[in-house]
Amino acid sequence: LTERLNKVFAGLTRRGKLSAEDVDVAMREVRIALLEADVHYSVVKSFVANVKERAVGVEVSEALNPGQQVIKIVHEELIKTLGPSERLNLTGEKPRVVMFVGLQGSGKTTQTAKVAKFLRGQGERILLVAADPYRPAAVKQLQTLGQRIDVEVFYQEGIAPPELCKRAFVYAQKGGFSVMMIDTAGRSQLDQALMDELGAIQKIVHPVEILLVVDSMIGQEALHVAEGFRDTVKITGLILSKMDGDSRGGAAISIRSVTGVPIKFLGTGEGIDALESYDPSRLSSRILGMGDIIGLIERAEAAFDEKKSMQQAGKMLSGHFSLEDFADQLKQVRKMGPMRQILEMLPGNLGKVAKQVDPNEAEKSLKMTEAILSSMTAKERLNPDLLNASRKRRIASGSGTEVQDVNKLLKQYRDAQKMMKTLQKTGGRGLSNLFR
Ligand code: GDP
Ligand code: MG
Repeated sequence: LTERLNKVFAGLTRRGKLSAEDVDVAMREVRIALLEADVHYSVVKSFVANVKERAVGVEVSEALNPGQQVIKIVHEELIKTLGPSERLNLTGEKPRVVMFVGLQGSGKTTQTAKVAKFLRGQGERILLVAADPYRPAAVKQLQTLGQRIDVEVFYQEGIAPPELCKRAFVYAQKGGFSVMMIDTAGRSQLDQALMDELGAIQKIVHPVEILLVVDSMIGQEALHVAEGFRDTVKITGLILSKMDGDSRGGAAISIRSVTGVPIKFLGTGEGIDALESYDPSRLSSRILGMGDIIGLIERAEAAFDEKKSMQQAGKMLSGHFSLEDFADQLKQVRKMGPMRQILEMLPGNLGKVAKQVDPNEAEKSLKMTEAILSSMTAKERLNPDLLNASRKRRIASGSGTEVQDVNKLLKQYRDAQKMMKTLQKTGGRGLSNLFR
């Protein structure tokens, strides 16, 4: 697929805005990729339509070709659709109950043990509850896993699951357990008796999390399964199991976009440690099957940013440094985050100086500078000598500042320009001293 895409992209090298045709060509490939990843076709349809609408008319970044630009947008939209990563919600009175539901064979018992181990590593005291009494092997399986991770398993023979969970809860309360995890029974198909039982357990022990385990290999069917469970119990999270196989995990998008249930973990093997926290960007690359292209896009953009900042540094050192460049630089600084963080990041001597700066003052003064610069015309920024008294008055009133603030900024700019010229003469030695 990647090869085919690259061929398609090679044909798309025009610059400017993305045309409807650019977008159509690239989206045809994206559509195939999503269907191959087992995303439900109804979800593919609406996703493709959304991206088309967003992408047409977007300016192609100088770092990318149009095809790459479309894929970048697809990747971003997919990340948005997949939703942010969320931790398990383990709040409230102890023991907090976490319940695992899903079809038989989906990997409930295995993921229950994996998550138990994971949470124990975070300092939780876990009680596992074997609430699948219909298959004797299922209880044994959880007991064996419990032994392996050294976590106690609660089970009483001949007791129906809702009653069993009630007793387990009392036991967990008395025993000072912080989390009680219930491994429930599954059927090969959704059936009413199973659903009623899950509903009854929910009513009795009030889980803070009900995690639906879905086998990522079941493909299009996943959406139907998720909806079936959601009709009975309040699903709070999704675990996609068997992601170590061929499946690209398209079920995740289908379920997430239709039910809004957040994805919490991925199961990546039969072993007890084969559990990954969900990462939207990584999952999006995998679903698209375009990890290499997305990597390429990111590298191209990083390289382009670097080239641009080198050009600017060159300009600064040669003294051809206009207010326009100054405004550009402020924008770059802004991208880095709030002033407090930026000051903390400065190295060496600059960092020491920065410690004496009040971040609130710095923030204020940066905002003022931005306001003044944006009240100037581009022409004025390129040629500050144009700034006579009446232009300064206009800029001051436009930016809600005083003429003396405008003058102060101009003086700072001229000082910086002078410093650049000196630096150029000393070959930048002064600058490297600052960073020592
Ligand atoms: P349950 O019936 O829902 O409790 O499912 P199980 O936990 O018993 O798992 C069913 C089968 O799938 C077992 O053979 C597991 O070893 C296997 N399995 C579970 N999770 C994964 C996974 O993430 N990757 C792989 N490859 N196999 C898994
Ligand atoms: Mg099981």
